[in-house]
Amino acid sequence: MNIRVRLTLLFALLVASIMLVFSFSVYYLYNQYREQEFRKRLRDKALTTVRLFEDVGGITEELLHDISRNDLTTMYKEEITVYDAHNQVVYDSGEEPYHINANFLNQVRQGKDVSLREGDKEIVGVRYIDQKKQVLVVVAYAIDKYGISILERLRTILITGWAVSLLMVVLAGWLFSSDALRPVSDIIEQVKNISARNIHERLKIGRQNDELAQLAATFNDLLSRLEDAFSSQKSFVSHASHELRTPLAIMMGQLEVSLFQKRTIDEYQETIKETIEEVKKMRDLVNGLLELARLNDEVSQNHFSELRVDDLLWQTRDILIHHCPDYDVQIKFEEFPEEEALLQIKGDSALLQTAFLNLMENGCKYSPDHHVSLTLRAQEDHIRISFSDRGVGISDTDLPHIFEPFYRANSTQYVKGYGVGLALTRRIIELHNGRIWVFSQMGLGSQFVVTIPF
Ligand code: ADP
Repeated sequence: MNIRVRLTLLFALLVASIMLVFSFSVYYLYNQYREQEFRKRLRDKALTTVRLFEDVGGITEELLHDISRNDLTTMYKEEITVYDAHNQVVYDSGEEPYHINANFLNQVRQGKDVSLREGDKEIVGVRYIDQKKQVLVVVAYAIDKYGISILERLRTILITGWAVSLLMVVLAGWLFSSDALRPVSDIIEQVKNISARNIHERLKIGRQNDELAQLAATFNDLLSRLEDAFSSQKSFVSHASHELRTPLAIMMGQLEVSLFQKRTIDEYQETIKETIEEVKKMRDLVNGLLELARLNDEVSQNHFSELRVDDLLWQTRDILIHHCPDYDVQIKFEEFPEEEALLQIKGDSALLQTAFLNLMENGCKYSPDHHVSLTLRAQEDHIRISFSDRGVGISDTDLPHIFEPFYRANSTQYVKGYGVGLALTRRIIELHNGRIWVFSQMGLGSQFVVTIPF
């Protein structure tokens, strides 16, 4: 069942129920009013008749017919019966006295206002004390033909009115819901036409600032984010292809040149060495990319183990110095914590080593003195490590981008690199619920700060 049908049905059901309650109330209240009025008239008639009966000392049939003929208040099938203290009929206006049970008569005699309904007949009982202090009970009954016919008419009007309004409500609900849902249908139509090819297109936002306009705006925000992700994905692929193509082109060139004519063994060896250098570069790049791709997929923190950060930093330093003996890495504590537990974090040692290695290597790589100094500090709920160098620094225009994959500052193009290391480092730190940020000044040096919670 679609929303339009559901809304219409709900709307119709609601209005129909309200109208039903209203119609029932009108019918019920009118019926009560009619009954009360009719019984009041019956009581008045009963009293008038019994007074007359007392005044004339008995009513003859002729007199009664005379009264009935001239009395405009005579009711349909009216009959009045007067009972004495022994429940004996002393007067009856009809041919056959109406037999009412003794209980009814006794209740009236005690002064209660008793009335009842039997079929169409309304019956009332009235107590009357005559001049001889005799307690008489007058029972009057009649059919409220006029009131009942009005009631029936009212019922027909209410039922017809209810049915007709129900039809109108269904129709109005259908039109109303279609109007209310038109923006939704519009959004569906527009969204259907958006695909990867035209992801730059946006939904039209209505003039009103209602929920549907907000939905369209939210969807447009999502499209913008997707477009950004798409274009960074595209540029990632083109950057990666470019970075891989360069060493391949160099290798092709070197191999083709060496094949061009016969070379000495030394020359071949030289070519092979150069080719191996290029292959190594490719391997490093491919490894970095694979790691980045792996970390962008959800990596579970389940296998994290307890690590001593200072040990990890010393091991990383040794690996770096082993590969680049002219690099100098200095590690110092701002204040050695009293408890060793304050140097322990939960993490993946291989990943953290990659991150620290990148930061140490960058510090040395981009400094003429190839020196980086690390400061370790255990704070309330995290460990803070800063990597400071007195290198070339990073310009303000480059700073916001250096964590993007493949981004390399112009001022550092002369140094070997692919621009993948910092993207990888940031992802690793985020995976450990940590943060990384950088301060730098051109020509003075840079400071990368990493915090990792315990
Ligand atoms: P790579 O070092 O391979 O180029 P990174 O992702 O590690 O890739 O770094 C991205 C860019 O950030 C570098 O190309 C460089 O321009 C800049 N950068 C990173 N670390 C430093 C640093 N310590 N000093 C100066 N520039 C840096």
